[in-house]
Amino acid sequence: MSLSDQELERYARQIVLPRFGGAGQNKLKAARVALIGAGGIGSGAIPALAAAGVGKLTIIDNDVVDRSNLQRQPIFRDDQIGGEKALLAAQFAMAINPHVEAVARHRRIDADNAGELLEDHDLVLDGSDNFATRLAVSDACVALGIPLVSAAAVQFQGQVGLFRGRPCFRCFVGDAFDSEDCDNCAELGVLGALTLTIGGFGALLAIRALAGMGDDAGKLHLLDADRLDWRAIPLPADPGCRTCGVARQSG
Ligand SMILES: [Zn+2]
Repeated sequence: MSLSDQELERYARQIVLPRFGGAGQNKLKAARVALIGAGGIGSGAIPALAAAGVGKLTIIDNDVVDRSNLQRQPIFRDDQIGGEKALLAAQFAMAINPHVEAVARHRRIDADNAGELLEDHDLVLDGSDNFATRLAVSDACVALGIPLVSAAAVQFQGQVGLFRGRPCFRCFVGDAFDSEDCDNCAELGVLGALTLTIGGFGALLAIRALAGMGDDAGKLHLLDADRLDWRAIPLPADPGCRTCGVARQSG
């Protein structure tokens, strides 16, 4: 795969970077990334990934734009209220960068369809708003061997990490959240600048992984936007994890 003169000009500021270079750019161009959720996290991640030249983006979201989204989802405009988020986000990505092929999937991803929707991707970035979806996505990523960037923000707390096999996202949260009752962003509130920061950090983890700049798996990055504190904690694997645990691997 080679880069055209237009692409070399467009990506000049990152191609010049040590440890990224033309090789890193070609890896981004060849990469297929699935984004779960075109919400607050997606609004931070999608522009960063599209502008950087990730070759194929699949945007999966079954929602439509609501007026109350616009406070933290600046990829959508006031005159798009009522429109399908996946389609509008895909159009946004391709308007930023014509070298990106963005595909919209107006679907709610769940345990039954996650494997089919996510296969043939090199990385998944999950910015969905509930644990049932997150666990279904994580289980599918482990089964398919696809690295997962999981990013979330609520109130003043943001968390984002790269999961590659074991430990998986289920090791981190356990089995208690498989139900659908955790969609609490509406009641708890969230600061838009926080979701955009966490989404942007998720895109950074994705780009580092895709370009081969480092292996960031096994750590969770936490941003407390109230005390304004960033920290990273190691994620231990759960030996009893029913997705990636010992029992599953030996059975
Ligand atoms: Zn696990």
